[in-house]
Amino acid sequence: MNSMATRLLDVRKEVITLLQDLIRIDTTNPPGNEAEAAKYLAGILEREGFDCMVLESAPGRGNLITRLKGSGGGPSLLLLSHLDVVAANPEEWSVDPFSGVVREGYVWGRGALDMKSMVAQEVMVMRLLKRGGLRLKGDVILAATADEEMGGGAGVRWLLEKHPDSIKADYVINEGGGYSIPIRGRHIFTVQVAEKGVNWIRIRAGGRPGHGSVPGAADNAVLRMAEAINRIGGHRSRIKATPTVRRFINEVASKGGLHQRILTGLLFNPVLADHILDLMKRRDPGIAEGLRAMLRTTIAPTIIRGGVKENIIPSECEAILDCRTIPGQSSEDLIREIKGILGDIDKLEIEPIQLDEPSESPIDTPLFNKIEETLKELVPNSSVVPFMSTGGTDSRHLRRRGSICYGFHPLKADMPLEKIQRMAHGVDERISIENLVFGTEALYRLVVAFTGE
Ligand SMILES: [Zn+2]
Repeated sequence: MNSMATRLLDVRKEVITLLQDLIRIDTTNPPGNEAEAAKYLAGILEREGFDCMVLESAPGRGNLITRLKGSGGGPSLLLLSHLDVVAANPEEWSVDPFSGVVREGYVWGRGALDMKSMVAQEVMVMRLLKRGGLRLKGDVILAATADEEMGGGAGVRWLLEKHPDSIKADYVINEGGGYSIPIRGRHIFTVQVAEKGVNWIRIRAGGRPGHGSVPGAADNAVLRMAEAINRIGGHRSRIKATPTVRRFINEVASKGGLHQRILTGLLFNPVLADHILDLMKRRDPGIAEGLRAMLRTTIAPTIIRGGVKENIIPSECEAILDCRTIPGQSSEDLIREIKGILGDIDKLEIEPIQLDEPSESPIDTPLFNKIEETLKELVPNSSVVPFMSTGGTDSRHLRRRGSICYGFHPLKADMPLEKIQRMAHGVDERISIENLVFGTEALYRLVVAFTGE
């Protein structure tokens, strides 16, 4: 047994315990309560000689940061994660979602995938670097932050505003990619290099109130909104494959059969794409709709409010649109598009609530190459493909400040990707111990290869 294998036996125990302990600290956001988890990690790291900061953006909203100094001869690397999780309804789960129980080779609980497992892995990487006394070219920074699930206002966004130097780094490893797609005995690992913009837009419909018994005498704002929502529902933005998405689709297809290659080629054709996706949907609804969302900007009504009383015709109605823009499309372009759909409806206002532009990092970097090399060492027959996620992560805030960010939470496909994605904010979230250890080893090897002297 080589030394790495021996060490992995201990690592296995330690990383399982870390994850279990983190799951048992309930950091459901809101309210978050990440400070307890941040202090727990600080305690562990300080025992091994790390200097830790727990920065609180508000009472209970803790962000943990620590760093290993490098010689300055290379770029700095931030290992980023978030400590908060989304709510879990225990009645729907087969186990207590905050138990961190080990069963059937898995660690179960809210955050097991998104993303306390990666918190545990990154903490483990820091400990191993320190224990090994490895000399580093650049600083390696660990930040386990608050509030990602609610937009990062009490976490990364706040840190960038109040303590920018604490997490500033040339490169960032975060969640958002790293899952492998098994195709014909090969493993294609995704690396998230881009994410769509997150734009929340309020539309308000006006009208004239009246009695519900004489509707014709009033002007019903709910009916006006119904027209607006109907149009949004029937609208599809133009198909546009960004270079990253094009490369992703081509590389995944190139490992498949001829049939698959021909079909996917047609996805870049704006006229045919939706027909092809409809065909794909019969077999693989999750993949087809995932691709559809990668190929265009989407506009989804998510909230509608109108009316106050059973017998009053409402004079106001509002709706919220969750709009995800593809790289290359600005929030301004989006608002213009929405005005184009709704512009001729009278008494309708369109007002942005939050506009977050899409973000993208370059691929031709030493870190991207090291990710590919590391995986090839660990998983024979593997390759790496850049990937754009349709959802947002904290990487977008850091990309805006000039960091090169990759979503890379290494996971071998021991469950169908769709199932993993459903569990992440769903029921019976869990990670296999094998994957927990694999991810730790992959991240450790990557950091050593990238920044070890
Ligand atoms: Zn997450």
